[in-house]
Amino acid sequence: MSDNWTEEELKAAVEAYVQMHSDEANGVPCVKKQIYSGLANRFGRTEKSFEYRMQNISYVYSLMGREWVSGLKPAKNVGSNNAAVIERLVSEVEGQSLPKVAEFETQVISYKSKANLSKPRGIKEPDKAYSQVTHFKRDPKVKAWVLKEASGKCECCSSNAPFTTAEGEPFLEIHHLRRLADGGSDTVSNAVALCPNCHREMHYGVNKSSLVSSMYSKLSRLVHE
Ligand SMILES: [Zn+2]
Ligand SMILES: [Zn+2]
Repeated sequence: MSDNWTEEELKAAVEAYVQMHSDEANGVPCVKKQIYSGLANRFGRTEKSFEYRMQNISYVYSLMGREWVSGLKPAKNVGSNNAAVIERLVSEVEGQSLPKVAEFETQVISYKSKANLSKPRGIKEPDKAYSQVTHFKRDPKVKAWVLKEASGKCECCSSNAPFTTAEGEPFLEIHHLRRLADGGSDTVSNAVALCPNCHREMHYGVNKSSLVSSMYSKLSRLVHE
């Protein structure tokens, strides 16, 4: 992402990406090459450059802990500014505002790769920022039912919950296999109870897709959405 793309070009790329993402989730076939060539003609760039841009968008989805469009392996050399712009455009195009993580996390990765990162002073009194974030209204009975079903064991690795909460409950987290942000339902056929390790891995792990498939084969109540 060395050359400068206009907001208009980036927005067109994000719009196409969001469409491919929802088509894929809904099992609607789409021809990626056709989409790139349409964009290439419209903006006078190569198809390849749009394909690569799509992989940058996958990278932002992966930082957000979301599924990316299959075949578009995340390409990580997105500058943190571009990552922030892409994330904002995804929110706008999807019409939902998810917590902003892309700019911060790309900066973390870039600082971490520096050979001589000196000990930072940090921020004594961090500024507060207020933002609107989309929340999904969930059914407490679904969470209760899934937790009872799991009866204190992670439904992925079968280990006991890692600790007991102050309320005396085994601590497990609910994960929606098709994310609510991707149009998934809040039902027991789409929700699992996981230990925090398995939960984070299902969002961010390098093998997350095989982990997700293993849940469908393991638990008969689950239905692909
Ligand atoms: Zn687990
Ligand atoms: Zn989750």
